[in-house]
Amino acid sequence: MEVFIEPIGRLMNEFSKLPGVGKKTAQRYAYRVISMSEGEARTFAEAIIDVKRRVRFCKICGNFTEEEVCDICKTRDSSQICVVKEPKDVIALEKLHEYKGVYHVLHGVIDPMNGVGPNDIRIKDLLQRVGKGDVKEVIMATNPDVEGEATAMYIAKLLKPMGVTVTRIAHGVPIGSELEYADEVTLARALIERKEL
Ligand SMILES: [Zn+2]
Repeated sequence: MEVFIEPIGRLMNEFSKLPGVGKKTAQRYAYRVISMSEGEARTFAEAIIDVKRRVRFCKICGNFTEEEVCDICKTRDSSQICVVKEPKDVIALEKLHEYKGVYHVLHGVIDPMNGVGPNDIRIKDLLQRVGKGDVKEVIMATNPDVEGEATAMYIAKLLKPMGVTVTRIAHGVPIGSELEYADEVTLARALIERKEL
């Protein structure tokens, strides 16, 4: 026999699909929802549906947007492209208010151990962007772990013959860590002290 009645068990099961949410946390979340008013619960549920309905990827940079092209691509200096692994890295860098260029979200890094090759991430789109000619610098801001470094090197090799400066964020960010978790001062310094590849 199940310990939880069906609707609670079902909600717990949904919460446990979220990263970092184990059984205990899922139970706590489910109980919190039960204690909400019906209006609160509806607002909560609608936010989930809404985010799926409205959020898509920018057709230029691959970051999240509500429109075809995101605000960053529309308004910023497109001669500088900062290449990151995931949309959350854009947020980490934007918080610094240091960078004035645009981004390119790879949606992954090259990771042969897990079957991710160069064609599985948005490298081709990056080459096309650079190929259009207005780009002066590409900043490789993938995470300073093995896959992030390898991806940065791989892309740099493809870009250099195209006559563009390729830089790598400095190693202020602890090796093996994720950009997202670097404190803002460290990340800002890593960006400012970037080195040519
Ligand atoms: Zn964009």
